Amino acid sequence: MRKITIAIDGHSSTGKSTVAKQLADYLGYVYVDSGAMYRAVTLYAMRNGFIDANHFDSRMLIDDLKNISLEFRKNNLGKDEIFLNGENIEKQIRTMEVSEFVSPIATVLEVRKKLVQQQQSMGKEGGVVMDGRDIGTVVFPKAELKIFMTATAPVRAQRRFRELISKGIEVSYEEVLENVTERDQMDTSRAQSPLKIADDAIIVDNSEMNPEDQFHMILQLAKDRIAGRI
Ligand code: C5P
Repeated sequence: MRKITIAIDGHSSTGKSTVAKQLADYLGYVYVDSGAMYRAVTLYAMRNGFIDANHFDSRMLIDDLKNISLEFRKNNLGKDEIFLNGENIEKQIRTMEVSEFVSPIATVLEVRKKLVQQQQSMGKEGGVVMDGRDIGTVVFPKAELKIFMTATAPVRAQRRFRELISKGIEVSYEEVLENVTERDQMDTSRAQSPLKIADDAIIVDNSEMNPEDQFHMILQLAKDRIAGRI
């Protein structure tokens, strides 16, 4: 059976990674969380003092990019986890602090070039589901299936808030709403590979959709393409 490439882009906290993982599991495809890679570079920049609440030294980060090595490894439950220079940082990249600094980091052209190259190489054989902001527009412009996911900001903030609380992260709903809208604003307005809807993407607004219906709908779109019906 032919192996296709599935690109899932969209706004923050729209459930892209949940549906991308489900699709990859069902189809036996590789799943790549490209956001985790930008988050990992952000953690590296924070740890090395390149970015904090008052300053961002993008030059220092660019000079140090060659020392950043990222890798996904499966844990014993089969879930992919991200490693930064050999260290498992899966938990550390999900904090609010990383969420606050990731969008400025993602504006840096050199960062994007490095990560896009690695993403393209991970998906070069096809049979990949990748989620992010520029997957259908820049990383895999020829992807057979492109989905653009969105939902209203309060719905997305509410979902993210519940997820963070369930992980024991202390945060207020207002803080999450502010972060989600700020990131969208930066992601859509940046000069390099801004978040935008690819011409051939299918828009899924899941504000009022349940996750199961959404999964089956997207799976059907994938099956149609795998079978060559579209
Ligand atoms: O997907 P996630 O919310 O973890 O992504 C974190 C941030 O990484 C986004 O808000 C965006 O700034 C950046 N990103 C990006 N391009 C991607 C994936 C993520 O710019 N392909």
